[in-house]
Amino acid sequence: MRVGIVGGGLTGLALSYYLERAGIDSVAFEADSSPGGVINSGRREGTVVEYGPQRLRLTGPVETLVAELDLEDELRVADGDLPIYVYADGDFREVPMSARGFLRTDALSVPGKVRLLGEPLTGDGRPGETAAELFTRKFGKEAYENVIGPLFGGVFGSDPAEMPAKYALSGLLGLEAREGNLLVPALKRMGLEDDRSPAIVFEDGNERFPEAIYEAVRDRIHLDTPVESIHENGDGYVITADGEREVVDEVVVTTPAEVSAGVLETVAPDAASRLRRLRYNPIAMVYVRAKTPARGFGYQIRKDEPYHTLGVSWNGVAFGRDDLVTAFIGGMWEPELVSEPEGRLAEIVCREYEEITGYEAQFLEVERFYPGFPAHDHSWEALDGMELPEGIRLATNYTSRMGIPSRIREARKVAGELADG
Ligand SMILES: Cc1cc2nc3c(=O)[nH]c(=O)nc-3n(C[C@H](O)[C@H](O)[C@H](O)COP(=O)(O)OP(=O)(O)OC[C@H]3O[C@@H](n4cnc5c(N)ncnc54)[C@H](O)[C@@H]3O)c2cc1C
Repeated sequence: MRVGIVGGGLTGLALSYYLERAGIDSVAFEADSSPGGVINSGRREGTVVEYGPQRLRLTGPVETLVAELDLEDELRVADGDLPIYVYADGDFREVPMSARGFLRTDALSVPGKVRLLGEPLTGDGRPGETAAELFTRKFGKEAYENVIGPLFGGVFGSDPAEMPAKYALSGLLGLEAREGNLLVPALKRMGLEDDRSPAIVFEDGNERFPEAIYEAVRDRIHLDTPVESIHENGDGYVITADGEREVVDEVVVTTPAEVSAGVLETVAPDAASRLRRLRYNPIAMVYVRAKTPARGFGYQIRKDEPYHTLGVSWNGVAFGRDDLVTAFIGGMWEPELVSEPEGRLAEIVCREYEEITGYEAQFLEVERFYPGFPAHDHSWEALDGMELPEGIRLATNYTSRMGIPSRIREARKVAGELADG
């Protein structure tokens, strides 16, 4: 069997790696001249800057892969007790890291905490319910508005009021049935539960991770080779990439929805038109140098506060990267902001950071992400009932979960299925 992989981001690279280990022949096509997709790092006046994912969780599969690639010595692990905050009503409120922590926090009033205890008495998810409706019904308005909404929205750059629970929380609802409550699985999903895997970065930047996977399987990856189309012939699927043709038995597509739609147009026109309907939230990251008012990973801002900034990562504090701070702006709330001139974004972020923390911020640069984060909003209804021809599958951060650990897990799962098949 020969597997063709479209895309050499983390998913395509990890899939190539696991297929090689399973003894299965594969070839991956990557449009760009370097591997890794959205994971990019650089340096600014000697400080490592992440132009993509800021940090990741060292879950079991990530740890195993890191060890196999001999990268253990290149990790920077954040202190386990570092808090994350929500900024609301003029103050930083420490986010509780466990169900018990919710009962101690100053982010909730006593009635808000009592309401939270009622969760086991609330019913299961309802059809058509949004993530915001479900969280509010389960945990109460205050817990949703002060803690869960800002954090959950921050993870996706999206408004939970626009995200149907069945897409945004798929999997979580299954865990609710298993664990008997939604709060603990929800905290885990946001990487906040007490027994969580530690947050890490790579010493020289997170792009070291995809680069190391690429080095391990480079003979299976073609860089600078954009896939143009896929069609079927009597022998299997023919992938046309940069004018060359490659015949494979199975195809795994890992690219963003619009690209996937283009390459699947001939072989799966209905799926292609559904994928085209998926919305993304563009996001800008604005990098500044600034002191921080506390130790922690940073803060999300409650939605009714009068700020454009969505949230801030204190990478300097968490990972010893000098006084580097990354602010997020745009997302589902203000997508148009992302394309504003650099000077305007710098002005907004520095002014708001100073207002909120009391510390001066010195602008460094802006990185804009298009298409950005998959929105997991109502446009995901387009995927209901989508069918792909046998032998073609999607392994993507919009048909499954987005975080790096999930991408590794899905790649390993798909490789296992192909090996078994
Ligand atoms: C701004 C941002 C911040 C994030 N922050 C975090 C974080 O802090 N922690 C975390 O765990 N996760 C984070 N994520 C999520 C995680 O980084 C991504 O979900 C994951 O890296 C996606 O990898 P992928 O391989 O699935 O997709 P991609 O990285 O999108 O890779 C797809 C690849 O396909 C290639 N391609 C495009 N067109 C073609 C074509 N025609 N033919 C061949 N190849 C093509 C692209 O060049 C790209 O390399 C973040 C994501 C973004 C965008």
